[in-house]
Amino acid sequence: MRPSPAGRRPALPGIPAAPGAPSRPESADQPSLTEPAPTPAGRRDLARLPKAHLHLHFTGAMRPASLLEMAAAQGVRLPAHLLDLDPLTVPADARGWFRFQRSYDAARHLVRSEAAMRRIVREAAEDDAAEGSVRLEMQVDPTSYAPWVGGITPALEIVLDEARLASAATGVDIGIVVAASRIRHPLDARVLARLAAQYADAPAGQARVVGFGLSNDERMGTTPAFAPAFRIAERAGLAAVPHGGELLGPESVLDVVSSLRPVRLGHGVRATEDPDLLARLVDAGIAFEVCPTSNVHLGVYRDFSQVPLPLLIEAGATVALGADDPLLFHSRLLAQYEAARDVFGLSDAALAGLARQSVDASLAPESSKAVWRARIDAWLAEPPASSPPD
Ligand SMILES: [Zn+2]
Repeated sequence: MRPSPAGRRPALPGIPAAPGAPSRPESADQPSLTEPAPTPAGRRDLARLPKAHLHLHFTGAMRPASLLEMAAAQGVRLPAHLLDLDPLTVPADARGWFRFQRSYDAARHLVRSEAAMRRIVREAAEDDAAEGSVRLEMQVDPTSYAPWVGGITPALEIVLDEARLASAATGVDIGIVVAASRIRHPLDARVLARLAAQYADAPAGQARVVGFGLSNDERMGTTPAFAPAFRIAERAGLAAVPHGGELLGPESVLDVVSSLRPVRLGHGVRATEDPDLLARLVDAGIAFEVCPTSNVHLGVYRDFSQVPLPLLIEAGATVALGADDPLLFHSRLLAQYEAARDVFGLSDAALAGLARQSVDASLAPESSKAVWRARIDAWLAEPPASSPPD
């Protein structure tokens, strides 16, 4: 399908959102990121909809309560905005991004041990499992944790080993994406690509590196300078999953696509500003990791209704909803599906379609995807929740 003209909100199949979105239970201390909202009558429980979670950063996955515990244990005073109940919200400018980065760094500086690293992977898998995720692809830049565990190799091996254990414990299949940072030298990215390449193959039952990413401020660095790192990853059979089209528009997307040859774009939402580009991306089969709450909290869009999810669906794009950094935005995977239902009025069939696309876009083996697709079909075949008695 070809995209509609930019700016026009296309009509979507589905039913209108119920008046008054269901509210989340409130907690006296820390927000619950996994407590599902009640299922509206006539609709199916989205927490039970099998789905793949393809955009989640390592430290950003941390539970707010775990962050507080780690800070207390280390006697570290956290910035006030990491202590309060409000999610971080910043304007979409350099200062806004700086505030986001400072918050992220404050959290990351607490992750100084193997135990802390294992805890993050384990809790992310548990939280994903509670939300119906069957597959988690988590991004990590091992450089950040290397000083505390003896280097980038042990840092990555800890993540992979805990991913294996957490997969077995929770049933969530986990693949790891090694992500280089735009604010570091492109030679550092090559070092990471070589490291990632060594873990591209793993025996059955072991977690492995499935992709190579590029994260951090999209306005920093020169995209083609990172191409050699992506070629190293590509030769090892790793999928390219860089960020792009989040803070910058179509030109940046074009740069990322032509230089890094992605199979998925981290965000990519601003490609919708150029319908021709969007059509080319769709034709090329490049999937979009769409993280609506993150977009709103980083000021890319004013509110959820402005996130161009309907435009992407209308254009025939493959979309995988993701949480990005629930630690800072206080919103996990399930909330993205709930909001897609409440804000855009997506039907259960349309939501099952999104879940199917997330599975399609995952880097899991085809045999696993077939099992998950059948489970999605089974979810949709179930009768929806019954109406409460009058
Ligand atoms: Zn991201």
